[in-house]
Amino acid sequence: MIPEAFEYFAPSSIQEAISLARRYGGDAKFLSGGHSLLPMMKLRLAAPKYIIDLAGIGELTQISEEGDSLKIGALVTHKAIETSDEIQSRCRLLAEAAFEIGDPQVRSCGTIGGSVAHADPAADYPAALLALDAEVRIEGPSGGRSVRASDFFVDLFTTALQQGELLVAIHVPVLAHNVGTAYKKLRQQASGFALVSAAAVVAKDEGGKCTHIAVGISGVGPKAFRASKVEESLLGKTLTEKNITNASHHVTASVDVQNDIHASAEYRSAMADLFAKNAIWVAANRAE
Ligand SMILES: Cc1cc2nc3c(=O)[nH]c(=O)nc-3n(C[C@H](O)[C@H](O)[C@H](O)COP(=O)(O)OP(=O)(O)OC[C@H]3O[C@@H](n4cnc5c(N)ncnc54)[C@H](O)[C@@H]3O)c2cc1C
Repeated sequence: MIPEAFEYFAPSSIQEAISLARRYGGDAKFLSGGHSLLPMMKLRLAAPKYIIDLAGIGELTQISEEGDSLKIGALVTHKAIETSDEIQSRCRLLAEAAFEIGDPQVRSCGTIGGSVAHADPAADYPAALLALDAEVRIEGPSGGRSVRASDFFVDLFTTALQQGELLVAIHVPVLAHNVGTAYKKLRQQASGFALVSAAAVVAKDEGGKCTHIAVGISGVGPKAFRASKVEESLLGKTLTEKNITNASHHVTASVDVQNDIHASAEYRSAMADLFAKNAIWVAANRAE
C-alpha cells in the first residue's frame, strides 16, 4: 500500500532535528533506516504528517571510544555494528546480536537508534543492551540525558523517550578480556525476529566461581528483560552445566510470556530456558 502524504525534512544537525520535532509535535516522526517505520506507514498503522529524516546528520553515524565505553551513534547500521573491528574486539556481544538481525538488506539499512527507539519486544539489541548494562543518550527540547537500558524499555513498543526527544547514541562498556559473552537466538522463520533470544555476560574467578552475571532476554515477554532470578541463582556459584541448567529454569519467573500465532507460551518458556542455558554456558567458557 501507499503511505498517506507527508511533508519531508532533511535536517543537517541534531539541534535542527529537535527543533523540527518540537515544532510539529505528535504529527512528526524521525526517520532512520525506515525498516520499521516505512512498513508501518505502508500498512497505514502510522500516518505521520511530517517526516524528519536523520540521514544527513553525520555525527550520528560515528563509533568512538569514550573512557571505558564505546559510543555508537544512533544512525550506525546493523551491518556496521556486525563488521566493526572495534565492536568485535571490545564488545563482541553486540556484534553477534547485530549479525542475527533479519537479512542482509535489513542489516544494511536498519540502525541501532531506530531499532532501540522502536522497542519491538522481539528485536535483538534490547537483550544485549540489558545484559551489557548499556546507556542510551537522549537529546531533546529541554536538554540531554542518559538513561540506563533497564529503565529505557518501558513496555511493548514503549520507551523512556518523550515526545520530540531524539536518541543520539548508545554507550556500551568496553569489556575486560576475562569477561565472556554470548548471544543465542531462536528465529521466527519468516521474519527473522526472535521467538526467543538470550544474551549473557559472565565473569568468573580463578576457582571458576561466578563473580558477575547478566542475562538479557528478548522475544518472550511484552518487553525485553533481565533474567534476575537466573542471575541470583548463579552468582557466587561454580558455573557447572548442572548449576546453569538448574538456574535457567527460572528464566521466565514473574514474566507474562507471550502466546501468539508464532509460538505458544509453553513453547516460548521451554525455549527461553534452553537458550538462556546455552548463552550462559558459552559465555562462561569464553570467560576463561
Ligand atoms: C523483513 C524485516 C526483518 C527484520 N528482522 C529483524 C530481526 O530479526 N531483529 C531485529 O531486531 N529487527 C528486525 N527488523 C527490524 C529492523 O532491525 C529495523 O531496522 C529496526 O527495527 C528499526 O530501525 P530503523 O533504523 O529502520 O528505524 P526506522 O524504521 O526509521 O524508525 C523506527 C521508529 O523509531 C523512531 N526513530 C528512529 N530513529 C530514532 C532516533 N534516533 N531517535 C528517536 N526515535 C527514532 C522512528 O520515528 C520510528 O518510530 C526487521 C525488519 C524487517 C523489515
